[in-house]
Amino acid sequence: MPSPPTPDPFADPQVRPRYTGVPTFMRAPFVEDWKGIDIGLIGVPFDGGVTNRTGARHGPREVRNMSSFMRKMNQSTKVAPFDICRVADLGDAWVRSPFHLVSSLDEISSFYTKVNEAGIAPVSCGGDHSVTLPIFRGIAGHRPVGMVHFDAHCDTGDDYLGSRFHHGAPFRRAVEEGLLDPKRTVQIGIRGSLNDADLWKFSHDSGMRVIYMDEFYELGPKGAIAEARRIVGDGPTYVSFDVDGLDPVYAPGTGTPEVGGFTTVEALIMLRGLQGLNLIGGDVVEVAPPFDQTGNTALVGATVMFEILCIVAESVARRRRGA
Ligand code: MN
Ligand code: MN
Repeated sequence: MPSPPTPDPFADPQVRPRYTGVPTFMRAPFVEDWKGIDIGLIGVPFDGGVTNRTGARHGPREVRNMSSFMRKMNQSTKVAPFDICRVADLGDAWVRSPFHLVSSLDEISSFYTKVNEAGIAPVSCGGDHSVTLPIFRGIAGHRPVGMVHFDAHCDTGDDYLGSRFHHGAPFRRAVEEGLLDPKRTVQIGIRGSLNDADLWKFSHDSGMRVIYMDEFYELGPKGAIAEARRIVGDGPTYVSFDVDGLDPVYAPGTGTPEVGGFTTVEALIMLRGLQGLNLIGGDVVEVAPPFDQTGNTALVGATVMFEILCIVAESVARRRRGA
């Protein structure tokens, strides 16, 4: 069995330049023996749940490539995730039978159950947003979790075209399955035209805090995060970041773009503002490289993933100290 990763020259860009080698997430070591790992960086190359343009299955590969631009320390918070936690690339939660949606989600759940049993906090890259439901099944089975959710869409819709499962419904299903506490859920960046005025009725009826873009524009990133912190409190909390929450100016490479979103700097400020919460993992989803002509959406996805890694690492290290 290979031993757990040790700091090696490949991890140090002062020794070996960042553009060399086989791309893993953030240049973290790829490991198959998960012993001793605190945080797993995981790709979920699955987009069988999209309701419109496909392509997010290619997200993990492009985000891995662009994530080689990430350095070792957060410029703003000074958190150095690779110094305070053992971080590894666990590879992909890939699906063997992708033509079958329900069993595909079960396959992804099985992967995350093993991650959870290994005591690893997952920071994942999708894939479309349907993958967050099986991630929750793997890590939240024994108690519902809270969530800070960045998105243009609430993703609390109901059945669509005869399917209970798709990327517009994971959080309704997660509440129904007892995985997500709606009263500890905040959704930020919601907007876009509707086919039905009650499209996101489930969010409101179940008690989620929905911050539409109109309100976000008034609150600003700091006000939105103060509200998010109030909603999720001290309990275990997951961060889910759909890149279509960003304005398509910043993230055009996605399946269901909506103009009028928040900016990349607002996103980074908000993610840093979550530091100190009791974070158990997170994901960035819906990067669709076929629509990402400059590669910028993959770079944005990688940067968001790095910010999520930093706040999760700070939380994992704090829990380890018993603080
Ligand atoms: Mn979404
Ligand atoms: Mn969305």
